[in-house]
Amino acid sequence: MRLILLGPPGAGKGTQAARLVEKYGIPQLSTGDMLRAAVKAGTPVGLKAKAVMESGGLVSDEIVIGIIKDRIKEADAAKGFILDGFPRTVAQAEALTALLAAEKMNLDAVVELKVDEKALMARIENRARETVAAGGTVRADDNPESFKIRLDAYREQTAPVSAYYAKIGELKTVDGMAPIDAVTAAINGVLAG
Ligand code: AMP
Repeated sequence: MRLILLGPPGAGKGTQAARLVEKYGIPQLSTGDMLRAAVKAGTPVGLKAKAVMESGGLVSDEIVIGIIKDRIKEADAAKGFILDGFPRTVAQAEALTALLAAEKMNLDAVVELKVDEKALMARIENRARETVAAGGTVRADDNPESFKIRLDAYREQTAPVSAYYAKIGELKTVDGMAPIDAVTAAINGVLAG
């Protein structure tokens, strides 16, 4: 099973991906997680990505395509994978199509979590408040200002990715505002059907 989870930041892609990992026994490939690890480790990629990530902008296509190109060839991804946070631009989607074709891998589905931006903004502000109240720290790019920039980046650069997959007939849409279990059930439904 090879699938892509699309949806704005905060839509619950990570939560749903974790459930799909359990169900299908395939890894979640999150470019956000990989980039955060690179930043933490201080690698050349991390050094390039740090500031743009903190501001809420997008890291260059070249960097993320390079990361994914290597990652999908690793042994644990042989049976499949869930892409979370990639592709985020049409150029990335086109590069992925070419990469998969070169590796003779097919894509099973592209699932988009549809959400209401206003409700999402309220959700993220709440999450930030709760995290702080519980003594935790909010991710630098999860503060409401950076989050707003990430939402704008999504609308401008990633929404066209949905259109790209709709055009080639791969896109399935699920209501991301439903309760978490209902979203999981809806995803399982579209994957089965
Ligand atoms: P995420 O955890 O998926 O929300 O990603 C966190 C941040 O990493 C994003 O706001 C971007 O700065 C960067 N990032 C992650 N994936 C990509 C991607 N596919 N293209 C460009 N930037 C990305």
